[in-house]
Amino acid sequence: MAHGKNTALIVVDVQNGFTPGGHLAVAHADEIIPCINRLAGVFDNIILTQDWHPADHISFAENHAGKQPFDSIELAYGTQVLWPTHCVQGTQDAELHPDLNIPSAQLIIRKGFHAEIDSYSAFMEADRSTSTGLAGYLKERGIDTVYITGIATDFCVAWTAMDAKQAGFESYVVIDACKAIDLNGSLQHAWQEMLKVGVKRISAAQLLKEI
Ligand code: ZN
Repeated sequence: MAHGKNTALIVVDVQNGFTPGGHLAVAHADEIIPCINRLAGVFDNIILTQDWHPADHISFAENHAGKQPFDSIELAYGTQVLWPTHCVQGTQDAELHPDLNIPSAQLIIRKGFHAEIDSYSAFMEADRSTSTGLAGYLKERGIDTVYITGIATDFCVAWTAMDAKQAGFESYVVIDACKAIDLNGSLQHAWQEMLKVGVKRISAAQLLKEI
């Protein structure tokens, strides 16, 4: 049996770059993939996202003289964490993880392709005004509830979940189908922010039981 026509599973950035061996590897992030594959089996509507940067991207520490990965800088749109160079367009690091097995996914949203703007969220780029078009896509298809999985809980998953809520969707983070970076308390902070705007938490087991 499948989840309703009005729901979608969003799988955030399950790419080589964010899993062990990648340029911005999140420890144990590959361990959530079997769970995501299982969830994908019960959804009709599935969207994948892919971090997809040009080599001169503003979020890369090596593009800022004297800066190190995980330093922060202030940009016109706010504070930007600087990352190791990761998920450069067309590289193996940017490819979806080979264990991700979701042939039924219908859309891949590529994000972070503007050199001057980062994009943690699948909905809005970090300048908070450039839309990826995902909200319109979901609404035109009659989807009102999204379940979010992937990497990293405290960055791209959190921003996607909050933007989903802001765009008018019921927004759930599937807690055991996500993995966090947890940089200086960022996971706890992200959860505070998510709960504040009404993002809900659910486990994969709970979600599978509801079907
Ligand atoms: Zn990125």
